[in-house]
Amino acid sequence: MSRVALVTGGTRGIGAAISMALKEAGYTVVANYAGNDEAAREFSHVTGIKTYKWSVADYTACEDGIRQIEEEVGPIDVLVNNAGITRDAPFHKMSREQWDQVIGTNLSGIFNMTHPLWPGMRERKFGRIINISSINGQKGQFGQVNYSAAKAGDIGFTKALAQEGARSGITVNAICPGYIATEMVMAVPEKVRESIISTIPVGRLGEPDEIARTVVFLASDQAGFITGATMTVNGGQYLT
Ligand code: NDP
Repeated sequence: MSRVALVTGGTRGIGAAISMALKEAGYTVVANYAGNDEAAREFSHVTGIKTYKWSVADYTACEDGIRQIEEEVGPIDVLVNNAGITRDAPFHKMSREQWDQVIGTNLSGIFNMTHPLWPGMRERKFGRIINISSINGQKGQFGQVNYSAAKAGDIGFTKALAQEGARSGITVNAICPGYIATEMVMAVPEKVRESIISTIPVGRLGEPDEIARTVVFLASDQAGFITGATMTVNGGQYLT
């Protein structure tokens, strides 16, 4: 029987690429999303992947959603914590609401999703948790104090939990994408995008599939000795 993989924010952008790559690799994939029903319907229609709607920022909704998936599809072996948002502003203009929204989704969201799954993974002695952090959690980014703090928090979460899961066959890893050509990045004004590209040694944005392939590797049995790692997939941008 194929392993079950759940991808949060798995219906658009990088998450959609991850869902499709895991399906192609033989997993039974289910995708969560927050509110964009039209994108989810289209995604499900094209890929045949089942979608489930709830906010990862809501702990009870995560518990309920996970219970429903486990009843309908089976125990979840691979969790990809990909859902993420930005609410950018220079710090002096950042509202408490912008802070809370980004921390709630990008940091508390990975607690909310991982915590209900953890006992089952420990019992079954297998699990793969893959957290999509960001280069901006490693370097910090002007206008993104909330986002950078949440994404740096995801890396700390990964390193601590990896130690707790190691003897139970559970690996916990983070991927830090650089700038990837999704709606999130394409929404940035062209001039700003060009100046970003000039800081990337390979001279282009990354493709969602390049993150997805890294996820497929980390989810595999061959990656069983990799845990607590932060994989940088950024065209060398972290070096500049
Ligand atoms: P998109 O905005 O294209 O897609 C985000 C996805 O997350 C959507 O499916 C959205 O659902 C879902 N989502 C948002 N909030 C919630 C929530 N509260 N609960 C459940 N799902 C939610 O983002 P990207 O594909 O660009 O980014 C994916 C991840 O990669 C994020 O964590 C992001 O921070 C990270 N990242 C992206 C980079 C980039 O260059 N694009 C660079 C580095 C990191 P819905 O469709 O319903 O809105």
